[in-house]
Amino acid sequence: MGGRVVGDILERMSSDVVIVGAGIVGAACARALAMAGLRVTVLERGAAASGTSARGEGNLLVSDKAPGPELRLAQFAASLWPVVADELADELGTSFPAIEYERKGGLVVATTDAGAAPLLAFAASQRAAGVDARALDVDETRALEPQLNPAITAAVHYPDDAQVQPVIATEALLASARLRGAEVRVGVTVTGALRDASGRITGVRTTAGDVAAGSVLVAAGPWSGEVARAFGADLPMRPRRGVVLVTTRMPHAIFHKVYDGDYFAATQSSDAALQTSSVVESTPSGTVLIGSSREQVGFDERLRVAVLRELAAKALRLFPFLAAASIMRSYGGFRPYMPDHLPVIGADPRVPGLWHASGHEGAGIGLSLATAAMLAAGFTGGAVPTDAAPFRLDRPTLQRHLAEAAP
Ligand SMILES: Cc1cc2nc3c(=O)[nH]c(=O)nc-3n(C[C@H](O)[C@H](O)[C@H](O)COP(=O)(O)OP(=O)(O)OC[C@H]3O[C@@H](n4cnc5c(N)ncnc54)[C@H](O)[C@@H]3O)c2cc1C
Repeated sequence: MGGRVVGDILERMSSDVVIVGAGIVGAACARALAMAGLRVTVLERGAAASGTSARGEGNLLVSDKAPGPELRLAQFAASLWPVVADELADELGTSFPAIEYERKGGLVVATTDAGAAPLLAFAASQRAAGVDARALDVDETRALEPQLNPAITAAVHYPDDAQVQPVIATEALLASARLRGAEVRVGVTVTGALRDASGRITGVRTTAGDVAAGSVLVAAGPWSGEVARAFGADLPMRPRRGVVLVTTRMPHAIFHKVYDGDYFAATQSSDAALQTSSVVESTPSGTVLIGSSREQVGFDERLRVAVLRELAAKALRLFPFLAAASIMRSYGGFRPYMPDHLPVIGADPRVPGLWHASGHEGAGIGLSLATAAMLAAGFTGGAVPTDAAPFRLDRPTLQRHLAEAAP
């Protein structure tokens, strides 16, 4: 009798899935898995969206992705965002702040003669992959962005690029997951795995006690490497530092996400040294975000003047009027970087019961919903919405890095 009662309590306490991390990826997965009927517990050591998801911009981009698996995931994500934005508004009501989804479009420009041909060729390759990428002349470009420096050598307009407020989006996805029975516990650090006699993971050890679960999903952003290691699995995750400048509020004078063509090269580079490219956009509140840098400096949080200076100088090349703007603050975060530039989404073939949703680098806000849909299909055996193979942990491009990550 006593055993039966204890068993019932454990049964009620256990989840089908424990998600480690309440950033936007964990939040999106919590909602998708709860919608699929699974009992979900999210464990977060800080507050919700206290990691990288609060430290970047909220761009949902197809424009910066070359034809291939990441672009396909981004195109799928772009189809999900307007639907989910409406669903969240309906579910959460007007007392919950809007996630500020806006399909504002992106404008990519070249500022040198040498940069023009590669930008136009890149756009042509994307068009062949189904991206709406429209080459514009200077007058057409200035009609979209009157304050843009006219000394540009090429421009491409991407109407499908969009934007959200990532912290509100994370909170909204978690709130929606809660409405479907998910439990979200903050201030709880996951420290290791519970296992059965066969080695299968049966839950997690935490600073607040053990939590039983059928499976564990690691969605710990740039910290996923150390979390996975606590579960006996290596993951070649590295933090890739990025910094953003924020101006004081001003009348809206920038209407798209505008960036220079160098940005794509920076996202795809594996160089650890500092790289900056100009990415400028306004927010609904009237601030202007000026990004962004990329460098591998571990988890070093210091703001360096040299980085800020370079970001500001490059932004002025695009928008000279920003010379009169005041910078209100600057912040930075750590992109979760996988050495082959693709996230890991799916089951870990090495450790039964362990799953991953990590490594989205500079695209985790945008790709979160698509990642969650893929995982939900993986958990339930449903139809996978886009080819899952390029995101598997055992893909060929990751094997060398996995071997290097092993202690
Ligand atoms: C400057 C900059 C600009 C960016 N701009 C964009 C952009 O415009 N568009 C875009 O799509 N992406 C952008 N990104 C990238 C994006 O922010 C990330 O890809 C995304 O936030 C990753 O989300 P996540 O949920 O995987 O990780 P996180 O948001 O970092 O969440 C992981 C969570 O796990 C928690 N955690 C870690 N360890 C444990 C543990 N042991 N126990 C419990 N909890 C734990 C952490 O506290 C954290 O809250 C940008 C990033 C930076 C730095």
